[in-house]
Amino acid sequence: HLEIEDVTKTFGRGTGRREPNQVLKGINLHVARGGTTAIVGPSGSGKTTLLRVIAGFEAPDTGRIVLDGQTVAGEAWVPAHRRSIGYVAQDGGLFPHLSVGQNVAFGLDRAAFGGRYRSRRAAAARVEELLEMVSLDGSYTKRRPHELSGGQQQRIALARAMAREPEVMLLDEPFSALDAGLRVATRRAVASVLAKAGVTTILVTHDQAEALSFADQVAVMRGGKLAQIGNPFVVYTRPADRATAEFLGDAV
Ligand code: ATP
Repeated sequence: HLEIEDVTKTFGRGTGRREPNQVLKGINLHVARGGTTAIVGPSGSGKTTLLRVIAGFEAPDTGRIVLDGQTVAGEAWVPAHRRSIGYVAQDGGLFPHLSVGQNVAFGLDRAAFGGRYRSRRAAAARVEELLEMVSLDGSYTKRRPHELSGGQQQRIALARAMAREPEVMLLDEPFSALDAGLRVATRRAVASVLAKAGVTTILVTHDQAEALSFADQVAVMRGGKLAQIGNPFVVYTRPADRATAEFLGDAV
């Protein structure tokens, strides 16, 4: 499981013209192994920063992060590429100079998984399987990211992250560029793959239906703090305070 303890993060040292900005003000969050937590909260509340700290793209100033008993930030530091964490950024972040197939295959660590994907044929078959998971067929493998819609790019980024078979998956509004029908289909497919593989997941979302259907825990973030953490039904029906109620009301 994933434990986040007293994590703080400030941008800017106050040496330039800009005031230091404390974006994470002591975050405590536990996500059970195989569990899914949805993080909701207003724009600028620190959701993406929290995901980036967990992934290892940013180091917290204080506090620690423990992944399956191993401290990855805090007294010890494990760099991003050595953490078993998949990360899907809001814009997908595909490599523009690689084809779709190469992007997804990049996620396949060909030495890992007992060398299961070492042969070209095994890797190609796995890439197709991953694309199918996000409702794209093999005809996409030769295309380049810029030839695709935002929603298609998001789905490819999901497939690439799944290819790594991570223990933890961090999703930053991964379905936001999809239309309603595709959003539900992709969400179902991704949720079932993650559940089957027992992947611990954190999902940032503005979509209440998504939080209710995907997550077993919802964390409401506001001004760099978690204002409420609980079962989705409880959070939506009994918000801890008025600001949370208003925010959740707006999100509907
Ligand atoms: P949104 O829902 O709009 O994506 P968010 O909750 O994910 O917002 P963050 O992206 O984490 O919010 O940003 C929180 C604050 O941290 C913002 O004020 C932002 O300007 C600031 N911030 C984020 N990254 C950096 C950085 N690398 N350097 C300086 N400030 C940053």
